[in-house]
Amino acid sequence: MCIFCQIIEKKLPASMVFEDARCLAFLDIQPINPGHVLVVPRAHVASWQEMEEPLAGHLFQVGQRINKALRASGLRCEGVNYLAADGAAAGQEVFHAHLHVFPRFTGDGFRLKFGEGYAQKPERADLNAVAARLRDAIGILP
Ligand code: 5GP
Ligand code: ZN
Repeated sequence: MCIFCQIIEKKLPASMVFEDARCLAFLDIQPINPGHVLVVPRAHVASWQEMEEPLAGHLFQVGQRINKALRASGLRCEGVNYLAADGAAAGQEVFHAHLHVFPRFTGDGFRLKFGEGYAQKPERADLNAVAARLRDAIGILP
């Protein structure tokens, strides 16, 4: 059984923030900043791409409440990041899909590192070609 399923079944401890019928939200064991929350579906779904869209929407809805709670909590919170790693190449380490919601403040030291070539903006034609591929893909989704 995966580590988050063990938390959901109360076989492992977690510092719980919120629970409802479809998900739970608990503190990350290794927070980027204090108040780093994971919003986790109760049903074991390994990755976001396997998740039904309404459940994905619900996780973000709960994340939105966590955002507001962080700002009302008195914890240091000048901004909030939502982060979802879908797949190992995207940095996913726990293969039970989850949404990170964590507070940010100036000088906290956390940053996303851009790859080489990021500084060079693509031509509009290249952007349009990528957008066309995605429109086509959306069109054939079930
Ligand atoms: P990922 O890279 O998969 O998006 O993030 C996994 C997150 O789960 C990491 O931030 C990590 O600190 C957290 N984590 C790993 N094991 C545990 C655990 O046993 N309990 C809790 N609360 N968080 C965990
Ligand atoms: Zn699981």
